[in-house]
Amino acid sequence: MLDLAIVGGGPAGLTAGLYATRGGLENVVMYEKGMPGGQITLSSEVENYPGVCEPVSGMELMECWPKQAMRFGLKHEMEEVKRVKRAEDGTFLLELASGKEIPAKAVVVATGSTPKRAGFEGEEEFLGKGVSTCATCDGFFYKDQEVAVLGGGDTALEEALYLAKIASKVYLIHRRDKFRAAPSTVQRVLENPKIELILNATVVKAYGDEKGLQGVIIDQQGKRIDLKVPGIFVFVGMRVNNEVLRQEDGSFLCEVNQWGEVVVDLKMRTSVPGLYAAGDVRQDAPKQVVCAAGDGATAAIDAIGYVERGEK
Ligand code: FAD
Ligand code: NAP
Repeated sequence: MLDLAIVGGGPAGLTAGLYATRGGLENVVMYEKGMPGGQITLSSEVENYPGVCEPVSGMELMECWPKQAMRFGLKHEMEEVKRVKRAEDGTFLLELASGKEIPAKAVVVATGSTPKRAGFEGEEEFLGKGVSTCATCDGFFYKDQEVAVLGGGDTALEEALYLAKIASKVYLIHRRDKFRAAPSTVQRVLENPKIELILNATVVKAYGDEKGLQGVIIDQQGKRIDLKVPGIFVFVGMRVNNEVLRQEDGSFLCEVNQWGEVVVDLKMRTSVPGLYAAGDVRQDAPKQVVCAAGDGATAAIDAIGYVERGEK
C-alpha cells in the first residue's frame, strides 16, 4: 500500500511529492497522465515566480522540478487516474485508466484546472504567444499597448479592469449585449475610460506570425472588424479538473462548492480525512504557480503526520 498517492504532476503535485518524500514518507507515487510540469508549460514567459529573476518559459521553469522531487524518492507513473475511492477500512483506492487499482493511505488531488477555449481559428496556435488565459501572468507583457479581452462573466470583467491598469486600452469583446458579471463589476467597467466594449460580437480568427499574435478578426452581427492587438485574453470560463473525485453514483467523494472547486481548510484537508486537494483544483485558488506549490507543500506536511499517526 502506498503511503501517499498524488494525482497530477503540475506545480502542486510535484511540490507535494518533494515535501512528502523529503519529510520521511517512503512509498509516494505521483500519477501524471502527460509529462510532469502542468499547464504552466504552455506559457512562453513567466516572470512572477519568486527567485527567478529573468523571464523564463514555462518549460524552463518546470524543467528541474521532477528531478529535484525524485532525488528524495518520489516515483512518477505516467498514468491517468480515473477515480479516487474510499475503501471500507478508511484507506483509498485509485482506479487507473489502465485498469489497475492502487491502494493508498492518503491522497493529494492536484489535478489543476483547464481554461475553456472559445473555439476561434488560431486560438490553440497562438496560445502562450499572444492568446492568454491569465492576466496576472501575462498582462505586464502588454504594458502601454492595446489588448483585447473575450468574455462577459466575472472573470472577464475583473481581468479587463486589472488589464486597464497596465495596458493603454482594453477592448472587451462579448457575444451578447448583457453581461453575466456582478452588476457592481459591470458598472466599474462601464465607468472605466480605458475599456471599450465590442458587444454582440465573436472572435472568428487570431492571426500573426512565428513571433506571435498580430490581431484578431471579429464578427459583429455580420460586420467584420480587424482588431490589431498583440494580445487577447480569453475568459470564457474555467473547468476545474475534479472528475477523479466523482463516484460511480455521480456524487463527489468529498465536498465541492457550486463551481465544482474542492472545499479545503487551511491545511488543504478536504471533508474526507486523509484526502487533500492542492493548487487550481481547490476552492478560491489564486491560480498561480507559487500558490499551487505552496498548497502542495502544505498538503504534504499535514499528510505526513496523518500517515505517521496511522489515522483513518
Ligand atoms: P496544473 O498545472 O493544471 O497541473 C495539473 C496536472 O494534473 C496536469 O499536468 C494534468 O495533466 C494532470 N492531471 C489532471 N488530471 C489528471 C488525472 N486524472 N490523472 C493524472 N494526471 C492528471 N501562473 C503563474 O504563476 N505565472 C504565470 O505567468 C502563469 N502563466 C500562465 C499562462 C498560461 C497560458 C496558463 C494556462 C496558466 C498560467 N499560469 C501562470 C497559471 C498556472 O499555470 C497554474 O496556476 C498552475 O499551473 C496550477 O498548478 P496545479 O499543479 O494546481 O495544476
Ligand atoms: P462564466 O461566468 O461561465 O462566464 C463565461 C463568459 O464567457 C460568459 O459571458 C459567456 O457568454 C462567455 N462565453 C462562453 N463561451 C464562449 C465562447 N465560446 N465564445 C465567446 N464567449 C463565450 O465564467 P467565469 O467568468 O470564469 O466565472 C466562473 C464562475 O466563477 C462564475 O460563477 C462567476 O460568478 C465566478 N466568479 C466569481 C468571481 C467573484 O465573485 N469575484 C470572480 C470570478 C469568477 P454568455 O454570457 O453569453 O454565456
